[in-house]
Amino acid sequence: MSTWIRETLHPDYAQSLRVDEMLYDSETDHQRLKVFQNATFGRVLTLDDVVQTTEGDNFIYHEMMTHLPILAHGAVNRVLIIGGGDGGMAREVLRHRSVAHVTMVEIDAGVVDFSRQYLPMLSQGAFDDPRLELVIADGADFIRSTKGGYDVIIVDSTDPIGPGEVLFTETFYGQAKRALTGDGILVTQNGVPFLQGEELHNTMRAFKALFVDATCYLATIPTYAGGPMAFGWGTDGAARATPLDVLQGRFDAAGIAPEYYTPAVHQAAFALPGYVSRLLP
Ligand code: SAM
Repeated sequence: MSTWIRETLHPDYAQSLRVDEMLYDSETDHQRLKVFQNATFGRVLTLDDVVQTTEGDNFIYHEMMTHLPILAHGAVNRVLIIGGGDGGMAREVLRHRSVAHVTMVEIDAGVVDFSRQYLPMLSQGAFDDPRLELVIADGADFIRSTKGGYDVIIVDSTDPIGPGEVLFTETFYGQAKRALTGDGILVTQNGVPFLQGEELHNTMRAFKALFVDATCYLATIPTYAGGPMAFGWGTDGAARATPLDVLQGRFDAAGIAPEYYTPAVHQAAFALPGYVSRLLP
């Protein structure tokens, strides 16, 4: 009989993934970490039985949280990633030759060590790139004391339970804003609005009080079940209005070859269905 992992994120709705081979199952200092093989998604990483990333579909999530703000901004030099321990976010940021420095602040050294060993296809050498500075710390503590100067801040967190909870607070968002350059952009993972609407609403309420341009954009990632996922977008700059031909020019100049991101998808991602736009204050 085959073994299945049932996700524990929602009280009355769950997805299950078949475990073809359990590759790792252990408690870190912060959370229970598993990696298993699944025929459709390849290697799957779960923390406390919630899917974090998979070999098969992580490209959608990582490309949309990196290329979109970086190409919208157009002159990104310094990037801060909060969370992101599997290395997939750093991988995509570092594809941009124009990015000189990336700080990645991950609370759990266990996730990084483990991902380097068992999920090298996610980081693809990003941890060895001299432009990456890895800090093992709570992102909320880091943001309180950083000198800032980041053009883009990406919050690649777990959901707002456990260690990730603090990354969804008004205080954290306010301190993140202070760590941005004047036209810098904050992007956050905000769950699947069909199932986690309150989470998006709360973030959007905080963003509205902080940023001139506060909204969210969407992408559908199969293993974040329940419809499209929302990404918070907050900036005092005008990057959202960057015309398509300008985005295309920046995209061509960057010389990247993503599997999901295109400039047209970039612009379309900001079109919100009614049930999502009603969650924005
Ligand atoms: N994309 C995934 C999702 O939405 O399911 C999450 C990706 S995973 C790389 C998120 C990372 O955030 C984990 O490695 C976790 O250890 C880290 N994390 C959680 N709380 C944190 C905090 N307060 N500071 C820094 N990193 C944190």
